Amino acid sequence: MNWSTRSLATRVIHAGDPRPRIAGALTIPIFQSSVFEHRGEEGVYEDVRYPRLNNLPNHEALGRKVAALEEAEAGLVAASGMAAITTALLAALGQGGHLLVQGQLYGGTHMFVTHTLASLGLSYDVIDVQDPSSWAGLIRPTTRAIYVESLTNPLLEVADHGAIVRFATERSLVTIIDNTFASPINFRPVAFGYDLVVHSATKYLNGHNDLVAGAVAGSAEWLRKILLLQNELGGSLDPHACYLLNRGLKTLALRVQQQNINALELARSLARREGVRVVHYPGLEAHPQHARARELFDGFGGMLSFELEGGLDAARRVLSRLEIPVQGPSLGGVETLITRPAVTSHAGLSENERRRLGVTDGLLRVSVGVESAADIVGDFEQALSG
Ligand SMILES: *Cc1c(COP(=O)(O)O)cnc(C)c1O
Repeated sequence: MNWSTRSLATRVIHAGDPRPRIAGALTIPIFQSSVFEHRGEEGVYEDVRYPRLNNLPNHEALGRKVAALEEAEAGLVAASGMAAITTALLAALGQGGHLLVQGQLYGGTHMFVTHTLASLGLSYDVIDVQDPSSWAGLIRPTTRAIYVESLTNPLLEVADHGAIVRFATERSLVTIIDNTFASPINFRPVAFGYDLVVHSATKYLNGHNDLVAGAVAGSAEWLRKILLLQNELGGSLDPHACYLLNRGLKTLALRVQQQNINALELARSLARREGVRVVHYPGLEAHPQHARARELFDGFGGMLSFELEGGLDAARRVLSRLEIPVQGPSLGGVETLITRPAVTSHAGLSENERRRLGVTDGLLRVSVGVESAADIVGDFEQALSG
């Protein structure tokens, strides 16, 4: 069946499922076997069924589902977001490649680009994603790829994605985007012009804070290269985690639509309050890229961050008074989580680097869940009143 004509809410449920169904099973069984009978049929190595080769029915169904959600030709799942990201980057760069990256990257990606890629003889330059005029000067003969995130963490900035795609197309650079924060419900980068989309499926795609997984989507040609590299590097997803991810994905549209509503309500309520210095949420008119976010995204997402007039002390007080949000550094699940990036995601940076990025000690980041919006907003109101 061709699911591409159906809406995302339908695709998340049905796309990718094997037809005919395996033994009639509506839910794909977990193929918990590391050996599959091989009776000497002719073929190539990748035809051998083996969990590391990403070719169990669990992997194949998820690859097809992720592709259908991202409106891409092909997709695959990986053992973690970082497995997806590092494999895609290595495949895209090749020998001696040079990479352009945005300044604010997910911490693991930042470490990989600045330390590991550099140690392999690959180079990078940081681009200001809001200033397209500054990019051409950084191009080298070896520049192969541009890597950005759909929304930055924790300040939720929206890069000039249109300019990035145009710039890269003119120069035949591969564009890679980490779409974890937006999720395909709010933004489909491949349809927009990006070559490759990567995800930490640990976050929105799975949505239940109970596994670690990654995903890549893009052209069949790119996905084949990435798959072959992944087969060597070994970052394939365990079949039981595949089962959980497939189950989680089915409610992606429902969850993210509710998270869009809940986060916007919370952002508006925080922005109205005295004692709140700033709220970073692309759905607020005061957000510097609000117009762009409105144009690009179908929803503004479930992530926001804010700062209080009282700085660190006030932030600590609010954290101690909140009853619903769990303090935890991850995101994208059904439970509302809150974290102070200065001591979690950005703890590895020096105080100066954090200040330069705008990650103050008192900044709080919220991953808004799917609890009742009234309860979430009410809980923040009582915590801020104390
Ligand atoms: C969590 C995260 C990652 C890393 O994913 P893992 O599943 O933890 O390996 C990458 N990018 C973003 C934006 C993330 O939030």
